[in-house]
Amino acid sequence: MLRFLLAFSGFMLTTLVSAQYCGTPQQPLLDRVDELKQNLTSNDRSAQKYIPVTFHLVANAGGTGRVQEEDVLKQIANLNGQYGDQQAVFYIDHFNYFDNDAVYNTPASPAAITQMRLRRDNNALNLFITNQAESGNETPGVVLAYYEPNEDWVVSRRDQISSVSSTVAHEFGHFFSLPHPFSGWDCHPYTETEYTNPVNVNFTIACSNGSGSALIELQDGSNCNIAGDHICDTPPDYNLGLLYQSDCAANTKIKDKNNQLITPITNNYMSYYTDCGSYVFTTNQKTLINASFFSAQRAYIRTNVVPNTTPVTGPVTYISPINGEFTPGPSSIVLDWEDTPGANKYMILFAQNNSFTINPHKYFSTSSQLTIDIDLPAGATIYWKVWPYNESQTGAMYSATQTFKVGTGVGVNEIKEINAYTISPNPVSIHQESILTITSIKAFDAEMKISNSSGQIMSTQSLSIPSGTSQQTISTVDFVPGIYFVMLHSANGTLVERLMVSE
Ligand SMILES: [Zn+2]
Repeated sequence: MLRFLLAFSGFMLTTLVSAQYCGTPQQPLLDRVDELKQNLTSNDRSAQKYIPVTFHLVANAGGTGRVQEEDVLKQIANLNGQYGDQQAVFYIDHFNYFDNDAVYNTPASPAAITQMRLRRDNNALNLFITNQAESGNETPGVVLAYYEPNEDWVVSRRDQISSVSSTVAHEFGHFFSLPHPFSGWDCHPYTETEYTNPVNVNFTIACSNGSGSALIELQDGSNCNIAGDHICDTPPDYNLGLLYQSDCAANTKIKDKNNQLITPITNNYMSYYTDCGSYVFTTNQKTLINASFFSAQRAYIRTNVVPNTTPVTGPVTYISPINGEFTPGPSSIVLDWEDTPGANKYMILFAQNNSFTINPHKYFSTSSQLTIDIDLPAGATIYWKVWPYNESQTGAMYSATQTFKVGTGVGVNEIKEINAYTISPNPVSIHQESILTITSIKAFDAEMKISNSSGQIMSTQSLSIPSGTSQQTISTVDFVPGIYFVMLHSANGTLVERLMVSE
């Protein structure tokens, strides 16, 4: 499932062996593992961990190319599934939007780091979502994501943010101290030419800058505390995933220095194997993640905030405007829906077509109502949908699409049965009643709604309109002076008329 390698499938071996694909340097993590292992007895792996994440949604200087919030919400649900057996809940601290070319394309450059330091959240795990993710750690190839130990943040390309990718789960594993199981082999994966079979040397070949040579782990576990990832329940991995990435079968030929066949785990989140089934962390890796969370170094993310973890499944029950009904006018249109159980946040998308590509607008609301703060084109049909979520439960997706038509702000009559209508008196005094008189060629059922000028529904009444001329009383006793809209919705359309209420 790790996608680090796909971009390289056509490359020659000589290119492969000098590249890193997750750009995370390993030595700082090995040091952390050694430190955490000193003190493991005081930690309880089953302890509840709430992990605030600030998502930095980075665009280029022109403000385009940013990851979609939809993908971020899917990614959070994905991540919480992947860490779901560790009493770990990742939750949204906040979304931070900014536009910067350096961060977007070269997040490891000094110019970018300056900008990122200014924007980092000092009480959350910081995930910068960018266009490119070169870490600068001996990476002649394309790096898709990395953890930066000095700055303590994670950078990921936006194309890694999804409902299925394991990239963020892997990088957050690094954040919580886990090295690669093949640590030490990053620059030079095993090849028979360089290492022979069985392996005949004690140390791996260093990277071209001289770093990265490490003791080679033995299958019998005798040096597991000081070789590889220094974690004893991850067996030796000579970075076979890098060279045999499409082969998830057990290794049947590569032997360690003791002439013992090595048995790397092909479905570990921290490995480089691709698409090898359901990914896991080992028991010791989980223990270290827990210990890392409760370490002094991680005190800054232990905020004592308990996020909302109530499941949010939807679907959203829409109230208005729905089923193609007219709004009173083009301004201050109010979208309204029922509170969705568990949700305290909503993402609302509307546009002028069903695939949401023509003039799309995205809004966020903390209540089950939204007043649109722009005018919409009168007469247009608008499609809208809502994604309910809370800070940790984000996977409900959009509910079904609803539609409405944008009114003109003056009288509209779509109902063919109605020959004529008047509202009188209009203006009406605050102490009076106004009368809606309708002449209809046949009887029909309708719903009368009265809204104020910001689209808020003041009253709703079911009516049976008879054939001929009939009158309906419009009570305005509770209204404050201003402009109101009387709306009659029937199966055949909508009638909208303005009503002025004066002192
Ligand atoms: Zn990595």
